[in-house]
Amino acid sequence: MVEGKFGTLINCIDGRTQLPAISWIKEKYSLDYVDNITEPGPDKLVSEGKIELLKPKIDISIKLHGSNLVVVSGHHGCAGNPISKEEHLSQIRKSIDVIKSLKMPVEVIGIWINEEWEIEPVTE
Ligand SMILES: [Zn+2]
Repeated sequence: MVEGKFGTLINCIDGRTQLPAISWIKEKYSLDYVDNITEPGPDKLVSEGKIELLKPKIDISIKLHGSNLVVVSGHHGCAGNPISKEEHLSQIRKSIDVIKSLKMPVEVIGIWINEEWEIEPVTE
C-alpha cells in the first residue's frame, strides 16, 4: 500500500471542476490525495449503469491506494450532459445508488459543483 490517505473522485473531464472538487474533498475528509477518474458527464454515465470502464479504475484506487471514499460529481454548465440542475441532482443520487450496489467497502457520496464552482454535497 502506498503512503497517505486517498479518496476517489468520479468527475467530469471539465477543467473548471477539477481543483474545486479535489480541494473540497481533501479538506472535508482530511485526505492527502484524491484519485481522479474523469469522463464527460459522469453523473449521466454512472446513473445509467455504464460503469464497466470505470470499475477497474475505482478498484485500483480502493485496493492499491486504500481509498475508502468514492465521490460522484455533476456540475453546472456540463457540455457532456447539458440538463437542468434538478436533473443533475437526480442523476447524482442515482449514481450513488449504482456505486453502492457494487458493494465495495467504501463510503459513497455525491457532490454538485455549482455556477460559482463551489461544492454542494448531494444527500440521498
Ligand atoms: Zn462536464
